[in-house]
Amino acid sequence: MSSQTFLAALTGSFSTPCADNPTVAMIEAAYRHHDMNARYINCDVKADGLADAVRGAVAMGWAGFNCSIPHKIAVLAHLDGLAESAAIIGAVNCVVIRDGKLTGENTDGKGFLESLSGVTDPKGKNFCLLGAGGAARAIAVELALAGARHLTIVNRDAARGKDIAGLINDKTAAEATFQPWTERFAIPRDADVLINATSVGLGDAEAMPDIDPDSLRHGMVVADVIPNPPRTALLRAAEAQGCTTLDGLGMLVNQGVISVRLWFGQDVDATVMARQLQDIFGVART
Ligand code: NDP
Repeated sequence: MSSQTFLAALTGSFSTPCADNPTVAMIEAAYRHHDMNARYINCDVKADGLADAVRGAVAMGWAGFNCSIPHKIAVLAHLDGLAESAAIIGAVNCVVIRDGKLTGENTDGKGFLESLSGVTDPKGKNFCLLGAGGAARAIAVELALAGARHLTIVNRDAARGKDIAGLINDKTAAEATFQPWTERFAIPRDADVLINATSVGLGDAEAMPDIDPDSLRHGMVVADVIPNPPRTALLRAAEAQGCTTLDGLGMLVNQGVISVRLWFGQDVDATVMARQLQDIFGVART
């Protein structure tokens, strides 16, 4: 008898539309590199198909799945439990299935935190966060749970910005204030880290969030969530001012690393995933 197995561990993603989502290529590159007998399947799941898709994943013994638009909140109804940050954020983009029980995690902010931890410890630091959408919310919560001192949330839509500031003040030990974004914004002098968590720069290397570039100070950490193109106008301006920069491609790769860790308890090589994405995005390998 052969010792070969023809049964792979299954993982994947539920979202729609999803044809442009490169996560499958990134994660399967890691599976191949580490010789893991696992597959990742990109599934186009419409809103009214989510319950069946989740039941199917459980029935087929999947190790877990990512979920994205439009399922990040709707999936909560199908889960048995939530990780701490996912419960505060109120959204899930990674589900772990163990012994038939489903646990919801949110890797958006964790992926950012993993990038940040390579350059600074968030504990006791002041953050300026541009944007108040899903990415900003997840990043704000993870920073607060990691010991950030203060977060300034800057957004055009005041209701969304106030909502995140309120969430941080009510549910975590960190402090947050909201700053309306009505004109060119000067980064507060006491900010240690600036994060662009808006969609400005996505698919447009010249698009720059409306901030005063002279308020970027030497020694400040400047991070962008935009994965493509990764070298955004903001990061180029920050480099010119002597800031330390972090790109959104690294954050995206870290999310893949974290998902595989959650599903299989195995740490995969981030470089292999980054190269795969860089090839897909047509940017120079780092
Ligand atoms: P949302 O649609 O939930 O939020 C978009 C945010 O961008 C809002 O705060 C919105 O402000 C702001 N915004 C949009 N246009 C402008 C503008 N011209 N000037 C100022 N603010 C603007 O999106 P997400 O939070 O889900 O995603 C945001 C970005 O993060 C996307 O580009 C996405 O690709 C990226 N992302 C990257 C990840 C990674 O791993 N690298 C992970 C997740 C997301 P307002 O509320 O005022 O409209």
